[in-house]
Amino acid sequence: MKEFHKLIKDFKKGKVKKVKKPRIWKEKDVLDGKIVDAFVFILRTSGCRWAKQSGCTMCGYFKESYDAGREEIKKQIAQAIREYNNETIVKIFTSGSFFDEKEIPRDLQSLILKKFEKAKKIIVESRPEFVNALEELKTKTRLEIAMGLESANDKVLKYAINKGFTFQQWKKSAERVIELGKELKVYILIKSPFLTEKEAIDDAIYTVEKVKDMANTISFNPVAIHGKTVVEFLWKHGLYRPPWLWSVIEILKESREIYNGLIKCDVVAGGKERGAHNCGKCDKNLLDIIKNFSLMQEVKETYCYCKEEWRDMLEIEEFFVG
Ligand code: SF4
Ligand SMILES: [Zn+2]
Repeated sequence: MKEFHKLIKDFKKGKVKKVKKPRIWKEKDVLDGKIVDAFVFILRTSGCRWAKQSGCTMCGYFKESYDAGREEIKKQIAQAIREYNNETIVKIFTSGSFFDEKEIPRDLQSLILKKFEKAKKIIVESRPEFVNALEELKTKTRLEIAMGLESANDKVLKYAINKGFTFQQWKKSAERVIELGKELKVYILIKSPFLTEKEAIDDAIYTVEKVKDMANTISFNPVAIHGKTVVEFLWKHGLYRPPWLWSVIEILKESREIYNGLIKCDVVAGGKERGAHNCGKCDKNLLDIIKNFSLMQEVKETYCYCKEEWRDMLEIEEFFVG
């Protein structure tokens, strides 16, 4: 595995344009079955600690981070507060872990939660190893912790994603989040590298089965090809194709059958070569269906001739890969 870690680190070398401004936008989301306004704030910090050590094979978020010191983080918080207009949900992301003190000092984590306490719900992201911070942080607001799991299969976690933890380790932290009275959102990756399309569908459903009794929300992330990653290397050599949108729809449908909580899916670079895509003709329609699903929780049936091609591929792909 040492070599694998080194390889992943090597992909990150070279010049990258660092983005220094926080990114802020507003969008629709769902709270207790109602569509509401959400305020999204991407804070620039030193970024994910795991990405510096080695990192996940599909993740290029290290490019969105830089060594923002304390004063600069405070300025970014002030900017977000100026732009906040009492939206019901506030999502604060860092391209890493909100609870990692190396990214945001604990007192500033507290300050952020305090400044947005009028929201009905705050959502932050964290790797499992940092969630104990919740014992120190106090907030009156409903708090949801989004923890990337990607897959509940340890082999996929280790050899395909290089996630840096096992399912049991992740689960222990997830249980801690629940014990502390917080909500849990689980990110599941659709189509890790080295999996066939069929295996990718099975892997996502297997993962839903494993977390369905713990998660308040499940959020699917179909792989998008980020620059300077292992997945980009495989893709450039014809060894990886992002998932079909048919696969995404299939996973949403099957998950709806077995899971009662909120299901979301954000398709980054949808319809493009670097994102989940179909034949080109039906992509927009399917992307609209997926977007609508995240708000209404229902899949609208649709058809395109490429569905046959996708079905054939599910059956025969395993015979072409060794
Ligand atoms: S996917 Fe998450 S845990 Fe993995 S390297 Fe990226 S930010 Fe870090
Ligand atoms: Zn099509």
